[in-house]
Amino acid sequence: MNRERDVLELIRREILSNIPLEARITRIDFEGPQIVVYTGNPAAVYEEEDVIRKIAKTIKKRIVIRADPSVRMDKKKAEEIIRKLIPEEAEIHRIIFDDVTGEVIIKAKRLGQVIGKGGANLKRILIETKWRPKVIRVPPMESKIVERILDTLYRESERRQRLLHEIGRRIHRPTLYSDNYVRIISLGGFKEVGRSAILLQTKESNVLLDCGIKPSSGYRDEFPYFDLPEFDIDSLDAVVITHAHLDHCGALPYLFKYGYRGPVYMTEPTQQLMALLLKDYLEVLQKEGKHPPYTMKDVREAILHTIVLGYGEVTDIAPDIRLTFHYAGHILGSAMAHLHIGNGFCNVVYTGDFKYERTRLLEAATTVFPRLEVLIIESTYGGRDDVMPRRDESELLLIELVRKALLRGGKVLIPVLSVGRGQEIMLVLDEGIKKGLIPKVPVYIDGMVSEATAIHTAYPEFLSRSLRDMMYNDENPFLEEYFHVVKDAQQRLEIVEGEPCIILATSGMLTGGPSVEYLKNLAEDPKNMLIFVSYQIEGTLGRRIMDIVRSGEKEVIVPLSSGSRLEYLTIKMEVHAIEGFSGHSDRKQLINFVRNLRPRPERIIVNHGERNKAEDLANTLSRIFRIPAIAPENMEAIRLR
Ligand SMILES: [Zn+2]
Repeated sequence: MNRERDVLELIRREILSNIPLEARITRIDFEGPQIVVYTGNPAAVYEEEDVIRKIAKTIKKRIVIRADPSVRMDKKKAEEIIRKLIPEEAEIHRIIFDDVTGEVIIKAKRLGQVIGKGGANLKRILIETKWRPKVIRVPPMESKIVERILDTLYRESERRQRLLHEIGRRIHRPTLYSDNYVRIISLGGFKEVGRSAILLQTKESNVLLDCGIKPSSGYRDEFPYFDLPEFDIDSLDAVVITHAHLDHCGALPYLFKYGYRGPVYMTEPTQQLMALLLKDYLEVLQKEGKHPPYTMKDVREAILHTIVLGYGEVTDIAPDIRLTFHYAGHILGSAMAHLHIGNGFCNVVYTGDFKYERTRLLEAATTVFPRLEVLIIESTYGGRDDVMPRRDESELLLIELVRKALLRGGKVLIPVLSVGRGQEIMLVLDEGIKKGLIPKVPVYIDGMVSEATAIHTAYPEFLSRSLRDMMYNDENPFLEEYFHVVKDAQQRLEIVEGEPCIILATSGMLTGGPSVEYLKNLAEDPKNMLIFVSYQIEGTLGRRIMDIVRSGEKEVIVPLSSGSRLEYLTIKMEVHAIEGFSGHSDRKQLINFVRNLRPRPERIIVNHGERNKAEDLANTLSRIFRIPAIAPENMEAIRLR
């Protein structure tokens, strides 16, 4: 017998010797990081809940119980029973049976009604139909992309089952070495913003933390340094994605294009936002006539290999590495990765992008971890001058400016990023209108913002407490009657010719998309107003306009490239930029985050920031806290233990 089977054999023995015979266990197997137990008598296993919990604790694995295919009820009959059992108020939308996993997926509006008191309904469904119920909330707003992802996963569920089994075997292979080491190789995103990628190596395993692109740079510098000798796609055990922004996940399909077939760990909202942003990225490249680095086929392959984890779920991702996600507060689904290596040999926290302050949309990042020796921290706003204005002041300023433009009969254009800032600004405007500070005019939402908003409404439990409570009470601020989703170019024309209004449109830096179309039509009227609410990267049209306005020019003429012709745009509308809505921690928040960390790290490594900011933050942190802190270059190897 090979050693690989030994681990499963030990787990089998532990389970079989503790669960009574009536449970009629038919099969025990790996499925990704978890153990699946098939039973001919699910009711009996449910009686033994405590026993299962105890076994799971002993073997340190998550255990999933499924009915053996031979005992599952006929689907039609099962559906009848489910519909009879669950009260009408639950509003069931769809019931889908998954033959491979033995799950019945119930999509409903009110989950509590489906689940029943203490899970009573779910238990009865399992006992009577022998199908294992899985409940999914129907979001109050529809997202086509989410539906498509679900359909892909169900359609390919047989293949997915097979690959999860393979992943499970690989994770649970016995460790070969008794001594160990931990090192990281900076593949990208060090002393720069973009193409985040860190290879973490132990004697046993290789894990890639983030896999981003640097979209603003030329083709050559767009990807992480995958050509370094340390990086070997075939020995990669896992990829961990902290959040859906392209500078953290944009190169993931590229790995699949070149043959990676292992697991990719992320939260569920990240999976969906990532699908949305990757699809959009390819579409924009195509429109611009550029050669895409990969295709939708590679994107689908990446999604098929994702394993979604919630915050706080401790998960084996390699024989000697355990991953736990923690709340990062940066965008919906964003996470910090805690890596527990070699039974406590070394504990690493990689923050990814994070916000150490509550916003309207999200809670602040976590600072408490079970153990921590090495901290890898971002430094986007780590520079000496990176102190942002207070959020409440920024909100008031936005409301005041919008009011001023509307009252003089103008229209307000706010270019926004589709994920995060778009929703945050919607919430500020919503409150302004409800409090009567802003006249009740139509707020038009154009571009990917509405699809991203729909994904937000599907995950109230990932949002700020106040927003979540509102949504649970069926008060959804995103659905207020003054928010209108723009459907086509015709409607765009009507809007620019119509009454005073507010327009939120992508892209946030005027690099293309509907925001540029609106700008062309609104720019020449001094009654109108343009308000930037996010960082404008050098080289973008947004940055050019901002720079000229800041230099004191009243009338701005900027070149607009449209196709091969060069057009000029005269901007007479009022232009403002409001800082303080960022999803990143500013310098003060970065320092306070380290101050409040529990436990205190022994070493700090700074990444994800322009050269001087990364260096400045490293110097500052080591001076204040007397913890050795460095800001490495790309392509360095750093030994952690
Ligand atoms: Zn980000």
